[in-house]
Amino acid sequence: MLLVAVVFYSAKKFVGERQARLLKKVDYAQAGCEALIRQKEKITLEKMALERQAKEIFILYEMTKEITKKASEQEAFEAFKEKLKENVTYRTCRFIGVSSDELKEFENSKSHFIFLLKSKKERLGYLVLEGLSERDVEKVSILGNQFALALRRVKLYEEIEELAITDSLTGVHTRRYLLRRLEEELKRSESRDIDLSVLMADVDHFKNFNDRYGHLVGDQILRFIGELIRENIREIDIVGRYGGEEFCVILPDTDRDGANFAAERIRSAIEKTPVKAYDITLHVTISIGVSVFPGDGKNLEEVIDKADWALYRAKKKGRNCVCSFGVY
Ligand code: GH3
Ligand code: MG
Ligand code: MG
Repeated sequence: MLLVAVVFYSAKKFVGERQARLLKKVDYAQAGCEALIRQKEKITLEKMALERQAKEIFILYEMTKEITKKASEQEAFEAFKEKLKENVTYRTCRFIGVSSDELKEFENSKSHFIFLLKSKKERLGYLVLEGLSERDVEKVSILGNQFALALRRVKLYEEIEELAITDSLTGVHTRRYLLRRLEEELKRSESRDIDLSVLMADVDHFKNFNDRYGHLVGDQILRFIGELIRENIREIDIVGRYGGEEFCVILPDTDRDGANFAAERIRSAIEKTPVKAYDITLHVTISIGVSVFPGDGKNLEEVIDKADWALYRAKKKGRNCVCSFGVY
C-alpha cells in the first residue's frame, strides 16, 4: 500500500513538474509570439511611412519637373495648380504678387489660408487657398516651396534675358535689345527730323533646309546669314534676330533709296555666297521688306508692321527680292 502511495506521489510530482515546464515553454513561446506581432506592426507602420514619403518625393519630383519647364510666372503657377489639385483638396487657389495689394482682401479671412512664397530672404509672392483642410496645410507648404523655387528660376531667367544683348546662335542682337534700340533711334530721328529705315529679312524656304538636312545645318545657315548681314551694314546700323529665321535691321538716318540700296546689297551678298554647313555646300536666299519712318509709319509698331507687310509682298513676288512698303 505504501509502495503504491510512493509511486503515485512520485508520478504526480513528475507530471506536475513536467506540466510546469511545459507551461513555462508556452509562456515563453507566447511572449515571443507577441514580440513578433509587435515587431510586425512596427514594420508595417514603418513601411507605410516610407511609402508615404516615397509618394511625397515622387509628387515633388513630378511637380518640379513640370514647373521648371515653364518660362513665365503664370505658366509655372498653372502647372503648380494642376499638380496641387491631384494631391490636396481645396476650392480655389490664387497667386498674388508681392507688390499687389490684393492680399488685404484675405488677411482677416478665416476660410483662406495664406502661404508666403520666398527664396532665401526674398519675398516672391503669396498663395491664397480657400477651403483647404487642416491636414493638407503641411503638404501645401512643401509643394509651395517647390513653386517658390520655380518662381525664382523664372525671375533669374528673365533677368538674364534682359541683360543679354547678343543672340547666342547668330551673334546678332536679341529681339529685346533691337526693339529697345529702335525706340531710342525713332526718338532721335523724330527730334532731328530725319528718316530712319527698317529692313525685315526672312530666309526663303527655310523649312525645306531644316527638313532635308536637319536642324544643325539649319542653325549653321542662320549663323551664316547673321554674319553676312553684319558684314554688309554700316557701323551705326543695328541688326537683330527678330524671330526664328527672321532678321531685322535698323538703318538710322537712311531714306527709302538708301534703305533699298542697303537691302539689295545684303540680299545679293547672301545669294552670291555659298553656305558651308559641315560637309555640304548650300545656296540660300532671303527676301527683304523695307519701311521708312516717318513716311510709312509714325511709331515702332507701325514701322515694324509695314516692313513685315513689304516682306510679305516680296515673298508673294517670288522671294529672293526686296520690296519697299511705300512703293505699294
Ligand atoms: P518662306 O519662304 O515662306 O519664308 O518659307 P519658310 O519655310 O522659310 O517659312 P516657315 O515660316 O514655314 O518656316 C520657318 C522655319 O524656321 C520653321 C522653323 O522650324 C524654322 N526655325 C525657326 N527657328 C529656327 C532655329 O533657331 N533653328 C532652325 N534650325 N530652324 C528654325
Ligand atoms: Mg518666317
Ligand atoms: Mg522663311
